[in-house]
Amino acid sequence: MDVIAVAQLSRTYGAFLALREVTFALGRGGIVGLLGPNGAGKTTLLKVLTGFLAPTGGSARICGFDVLEHPLEVSRRIGYLPENSPVDEAVTVGEYLRFIADVRRMGPAARTRAIARVATATGLEDRLSQRIGTLSRGYRQRVGLAQAVLHEPELLILDEPTTGLDPNQIAEIRSLIRSLARTTTVLLSSHGLSEVQLLCDRVLILNQGALVADGPTAELAARGAGTLVTLGLAAGKIRASSAEIRASLAGVPGVVHVADAQPGDAAQRFAVTTDRDSRVALFDWAVAHGHRLVELTPERQDLADVFRRLTTD
Ligand code: ATP
Repeated sequence: MDVIAVAQLSRTYGAFLALREVTFALGRGGIVGLLGPNGAGKTTLLKVLTGFLAPTGGSARICGFDVLEHPLEVSRRIGYLPENSPVDEAVTVGEYLRFIADVRRMGPAARTRAIARVATATGLEDRLSQRIGTLSRGYRQRVGLAQAVLHEPELLILDEPTTGLDPNQIAEIRSLIRSLARTTTVLLSSHGLSEVQLLCDRVLILNQGALVADGPTAELAARGAGTLVTLGLAAGKIRASSAEIRASLAGVPGVVHVADAQPGDAAQRFAVTTDRDSRVALFDWAVAHGHRLVELTPERQDLADVFRRLTTD
């Protein structure tokens, strides 16, 4: 059964449509990234899935339970780390986790076991008696993750879990998310393309409330405007003008665009955009035209192209 099944889901704020008939389903396992520019509707979608906001149209089911009809069943199956979690800074980590366990109606023995388990999983064993107000942001985020997985949810929903952290804390939280994902399905929102590319097996892209892409991360990245290849020719022997070379390169199979690139040491360089791996064709072209190829560097493909194309008008 799908962990999340969303059909034609909409949410309005007054007359403003923040989610527009969003439909997708997520099976068990893995880390799924929810990506979108500011105001795309990511937080709204996560709040609807976690039962904090009611949908105004369509439906959302978590492990088969409708969020409106079975809010308790849904809450049992979801762990949620909101973007800004309101936490009482005066209490200790242990007191806070005991409070969450009580809200989750755990008995004393289950509570003790659960707190020990999440403290180990999130590296908080030594911090249980420390006041939350005195923790670094990275450790506070660990507390947020610990409370979210206290009841061993099937689905962990994280709203921008690394925002505001320094690079070391980001690395720690990402590695923690990866380890939590061994036992639970994770849906996380982010504006960070590199974060999603690093962490997520699958990505959903929202723009202006609509789902504009849904697929495996690598597949979406490969759908970019193409692979950019920097091609360098030994300058000494070149007789043709740069415009002539560009026109000739444009005829190579797979090449969709050619621009001049910054010249290198004794090399004339071109930025060649291709819609497939055209390295062999470019090599053959150089040989056929008597050019000496001194550089042929494919740039890394990433989601940035796809993201820009899908989320700009
Ligand atoms: P961000 O990346 O900035 O957190 P987001 O993708 O999470 O953005 P949402 O917070 O879901 O986006 O907001 C989607 C849209 O709905 C935005 O235009 C926002 O201004 C609007 N919005 C959000 N909450 C409310 C509200 N309570 N009342 C009116 N409009 C709202």
